[in-house]
Amino acid sequence: LATQNVLVDETKLHDFVVDVFTAAGSSQREASLISRHLVDSNLRGHDSHGVGSIPVYIRNLKCGDLLANQALTLVSETDSFLICDGNGGYGQVMAHDAVAIGITKAQQSGVALVGLRNSHHVGRIGHWAEQCAEAGLVSIHFVNVVSDPSVAPFGGVAARVGTNPFSVGIPRDGKRPVILDFATSKLAVGKVRVAMNQGKPLPPGALLTAVGEPTTDPSILFSQPKGILLPFGDHKGWGLSFACEVLGAALTGGKTQSGPKRRNATINCMLSILISPERLGTADTLSPEIDTFVGWVRSGDNAGVLLPGDVEATTTGERHANGIPIDAKSWSDIVAAGREVGAEPPSSILEPAVQANVRSAS
Ligand code: NAD
Repeated sequence: LATQNVLVDETKLHDFVVDVFTAAGSSQREASLISRHLVDSNLRGHDSHGVGSIPVYIRNLKCGDLLANQALTLVSETDSFLICDGNGGYGQVMAHDAVAIGITKAQQSGVALVGLRNSHHVGRIGHWAEQCAEAGLVSIHFVNVVSDPSVAPFGGVAARVGTNPFSVGIPRDGKRPVILDFATSKLAVGKVRVAMNQGKPLPPGALLTAVGEPTTDPSILFSQPKGILLPFGDHKGWGLSFACEVLGAALTGGKTQSGPKRRNATINCMLSILISPERLGTADTLSPEIDTFVGWVRSGDNAGVLLPGDVEATTTGERHANGIPIDAKSWSDIVAAGREVGAEPPSSILEPAVQANVRSAS
């Protein structure tokens, strides 16, 4: 059965999430960075990486698998690269700070490589591509996930890897950047959780039961023995997942997934390559050439073709205007997690139309 959605005011949601994380012991800066990231993920339509993550973060914090108020440890550094350790701290802070250092280096050197290892969950990877694009930089991000293995490699029937995400960001003159950002599994784990909370079936072909039978029931991924996600694009998705695992973790001195889950935390390692078109001397041609290419791609009957990032931009516009829909189960879990640390949402956080009449999920 589908559960109902609540519609939440974006600004009040951001303030409430800041309250939750400061109440949980984070500095104001840390809580603000976490909140901005989570609320932006909801705005982009990636509810899997939005405020629905709060109960998991609070649980990990309470059991000591996530540490508040950590700072990056710089392991090695030159003008054009940085390897740093996130010390199991909030990924929304660790990735922000690592990428910020990389931006300065790329603006000076033309190209910078940033290896962030041993960070708690860095969330929606497109957020980091957007951070680079805002600074005029192209970026490529390879990320591994050390957690409960959830994805079978192509040709295998047992879960061995995480959903290893990949992202590319490309700034454009006078237009929003192109942001490609996806998990290398057919579905991100968080999307399966959202479907379960909404009482909705999964699309066929994404999930197997523990004994290898196809299923569309999202709860199978969270039951014992748990189900198994499949990589997107068969051998191609598996190949990209492999690259994310090895480049994200092994190359940065981090840990690959090398056995069953040992702790609650989801640990991410991220290799980011930042490129300055300005320093390369190609800034003047990059945007016009993308325009030419996009014009060709959309010519003839292809006018409706979307670019990476278009869906998220449309959803962001809608949610800015109307509020952020959150399924009722996720919302009650978020409120309960807030109460656990002593933070209470204001009753006015729900959009007025919805306070009176909670609308049905479509
Ligand atoms: P997804 O399947 O929704 O794919 C998103 C990408 O496809 C975007 O670039 C989007 O613009 C593009 N896209 C979507 N529809 C399109 C269309 N019709 N035409 C053209 N392009 C289109 O993403 P996902 O795999 O569900 O990943 C969701 C989020 O989960 C991502 O932000 C990812 O970074 C995040 N994630 C994080 C972790 C982690 O451990 N931190 C792990 C896995 C995934």
